[in-house]
Amino acid sequence: MELEPERTVRERYAAFLHELSEVAGQFGRTSSEVTILAVTKAQPTEAIAAAIDLGLRDIGENYLQEARRKFAALRTGMTRFRKHFLGHVQTNKAKAIVEEFDMVQSVDRIDAGRALAKAARESGKQLPVLIQLNISPTQRFGARPDEAEGLADALRADGLAVEGVMAIGPVTDDAGELSRAFEQAAKTFGRVGGSTLSLGMSADWRQAVESGSTMVRIGSALFGARDRAGEVNV
Ligand SMILES: *Cc1c(COP(=O)(O)O)cnc(C)c1O
Repeated sequence: MELEPERTVRERYAAFLHELSEVAGQFGRTSSEVTILAVTKAQPTEAIAAAIDLGLRDIGENYLQEARRKFAALRTGMTRFRKHFLGHVQTNKAKAIVEEFDMVQSVDRIDAGRALAKAARESGKQLPVLIQLNISPTQRFGARPDEAEGLADALRADGLAVEGVMAIGPVTDDAGELSRAFEQAAKTFGRVGGSTLSLGMSADWRQAVESGSTMVRIGSALFGARDRAGEVNV
């Protein structure tokens, strides 16, 4: 018997919320301090609809073409939600990214940020961004933590609203390595400033909440395994 996908997502979400408030409480925080970003890459359009039906209002996608197709397929009149771009920013796609998304979490170098700033100016759109940090030797993208503050300053001077930082944790079984990486992200967030520390995914959000994350990016824990095996931000 096939499971009704909506119901599965609903159950996963209920379990997630329960655990989030438990984990937040363990670290003297409340779950209301942590925004849940539903990451729907490599999931069908219905995953976005299901997330919105559950009351989630922040949706993350990594690939411009895929996102464009899915956003267009959503039924019209659907409650508005915030679209977050998580993928690598190619400068020649900046205009299309600005048109399609409300926030870009993956600005990791000056030319990408400048291209977004220019496109946002030209379309008269406010585009909040996060600086993507590299805190893991296995990650290809991301600004070095010691360069993040300078990058944020330069982009703010260019008119971009830099609202914080985003980072992808190292894939590791070593809890010490993970928490050192997350502490580095939290410290860098303190220097960059802003309101959003986007840290933590399905496998490591608990440690991220401990390190002060204000936004966890959750894909497989809400929607199940992806068709395309586990790729992140490629
Ligand atoms: C895919 C992805 C996620 C979600 O990953 P899960 O492990 O499925 O929760 C979060 N952040 C980024 C940047 C991603 O690429």
